Amino acid sequence: MTAEPIVVADRPESDDNLVIPFQIEGQSVRGRAVRLGTVADQVLAAHDYPEPIARLLGEALALTAMLGSVLKVDGKLTLQAKAGGPLGLLVADYASPGDVRGFAQFDAGGVAHLPEDATVADLLGKGYLAMTLDQASAKESYQGIVDLKGETLAECAKAYFADSEQTPSELALAAERDPVSGYWRVGGIMVQHLGRGEEGGPRILDPDQSEAWNRAAVLMSSVKTDELTDPLLPLTDLLLRLYHEDGVRVFRPISIRRGCRCSEERMEQVIRSFSKEDLADMADDGRVTITCEFCNRDHVIEI
Ligand SMILES: [Zn+2]
Repeated sequence: MTAEPIVVADRPESDDNLVIPFQIEGQSVRGRAVRLGTVADQVLAAHDYPEPIARLLGEALALTAMLGSVLKVDGKLTLQAKAGGPLGLLVADYASPGDVRGFAQFDAGGVAHLPEDATVADLLGKGYLAMTLDQASAKESYQGIVDLKGETLAECAKAYFADSEQTPSELALAAERDPVSGYWRVGGIMVQHLGRGEEGGPRILDPDQSEAWNRAAVLMSSVKTDELTDPLLPLTDLLLRLYHEDGVRVFRPISIRRGCRCSEERMEQVIRSFSKEDLADMADDGRVTITCEFCNRDHVIEI
């Protein structure tokens, strides 16, 4: 038996498992669009989470893929929401050149009492959203943290960009489960008003561009949830639908895969950090089984 779930093939014309960077012609507006079919389904199917949690993790995968795909080589981006609600922790990460994974920690009893359309505020309660960027070329990792603000993950992310990075942003995220097949699809789109200025310093936004930015943001906010996940609507067609008046230029897409970096060697390193007594308690027949939170794979380590 294989541990991999059986999934339907991605439609070749659907732009599934891709991030497409784009730019509105003649404006300081850049964006990214993403669609994940089998990749999202495989990540979510490994866990069997309650519907509202799977949906939110699906949206987090879409967001992480868009943000992480900016990293060229040896980069890692981690999105983490930590809070005091029934869903205590949500993690999605991206490793170049395009591997995504994610998991959630939650109180099953608390989640069971929530409605199916539970909001981020219902699920997470008060907490924070953090993004951590690790790049081999940079000596230190960068982390931005903001309080969770908003009814949706997209709203929380928008607040993150406004507070932490002073970059006006508009974004939409969607995760849909096919009612017949049960397969998940997720999608997202974001635009950002790029400014001039030193990295880490105040951004200088060109006032001549503010009208164009407002138009780009309003047009983006008109996108519908089912357009983001529609397998019959290629992302490039969706971008044209939104931005045909100004013109949109798309750049080379980035392929996204489901990927986990867990390994027997890494788990052995974790094991070595425990005391002999703790290991003896954990062991069964001289073996310790550790389950990877991201991919749910069991690693059996002889001790
Ligand atoms: Zn793993």
